[in-house]
This record gives sequence, C-alpha cells and structure tokens, in this order.
Amino acid sequence: MQYIAPLANLIEQFRALPGIGAKSAVRLAYHVLEMDKDKATALSKAIVEAKAKISYCQTCFNLTDCNPCAICQSPNRDRTVLCVMEEPRDVAAMERTREYKGLYHVLHGSLSPLEGIGPEELRIKELLVRLQDGSVKEVIMASNPNVEGEATAMYLARLIQPLGVKVTRIAHGLPMGGDLEYADEVTLSKALENRREM
Ligand SMILES: [Zn+2]
Repeated sequence: MQYIAPLANLIEQFRALPGIGAKSAVRLAYHVLEMDKDKATALSKAIVEAKAKISYCQTCFNLTDCNPCAICQSPNRDRTVLCVMEEPRDVAAMERTREYKGLYHVLHGSLSPLEGIGPEELRIKELLVRLQDGSVKEVIMASNPNVEGEATAMYLARLIQPLGVKVTRIAHGLPMGGDLEYADEVTLSKALENRREM
C-alpha cells in the first residue's frame, strides 16, 4: 500500500524504533495524525528537548542534564563505593531501591566478543582513571546476571584487584540470564546486600 509522503515518513520513523513492527508503526502514525495539534507538538518537543538537554555525565557516564550529574555532585553519597553497571537504565533501577548510597560508573554495554564488543568499546579506561587517587575502597560489579555480564565482571575484577581495591559481585538472587532493569526493588536490594567479594 502507498502512503502519502509525510505519512510514509512518519511510519518509517516509528518503524526504526526498537520493538516496533510494521503494523505497530502504521498504528502509531495514524494515532499521531488523530492527536490534537497541541499534544502532537508536545510529543515532538519532548523528543527534541530530551536530545538537546540530556548528555552523558563526564564522570560516571550516566544520563544527565547537568555535568557532573546530580549523583556525582551530591555531598550525601558515599564516595568510597562505586557501583559498575551496564546501562543508564540499570542505574535508574538501582536508584529505585533507595538502598544504595554510593556512586556509579556506567560501562555502556558488556564484553561480547561475538558482537565485536571489546574493552575499548566500553567506559573501562575512564573507570580505571577514577580509581587512581585511592578514594574508592570498593567496586561493586552490578553487570547483568548473564554470560556477557559475568565475563565483564570477571575481566574488570582482574584489572581492579591489583590496584588494592576490593571488588564485589552482586548476589545471584537475580534470575540468571535476566536484565537488572527488570528486577523488582526488593530483589535488587537483596542482591546488593548479599554481594560477595570476587
Ligand atoms: Zn555522574
């Protein structure tokens, strides 16, 4: 079926999003056309603003609208503990537990030789730089409980332990092969509480 050009373009934009199939893309595009002009403008404005105002914290590489981010700047966080996570959305999940009071470091992925993701593709160099001044006493490996996440934790533990920093791994209360992002707050708090030295 041929769509008029602006509609075809809108469908194509939705189609490019993760988890959106051809049918959903068409449904969303028609939905947008039926929206009030104000609501459609608010949607497009939200996208433009998010892209313009949000960047990566140059210290921890979490998403932020100020630099360093609010967590890195906070006087209330424990600066001796660093929690290493794969993605900004994992940090959001950990923050929802309200249990963790230390700082973060976001790797932006996990080691995956099959997908060509090596140490250079992750924020590992930046992590090691943060450990140079000796203020961090413990690094908690909170990469996902799957094959890549475990390999990443092991790799980093071998790099960090010689620096004299304690390295711990969150407990396996989490479902293996799962995503931290989807763990509920209680499970994630328990996994953090029951972490073990690597
Ligand atoms: Zn930060």
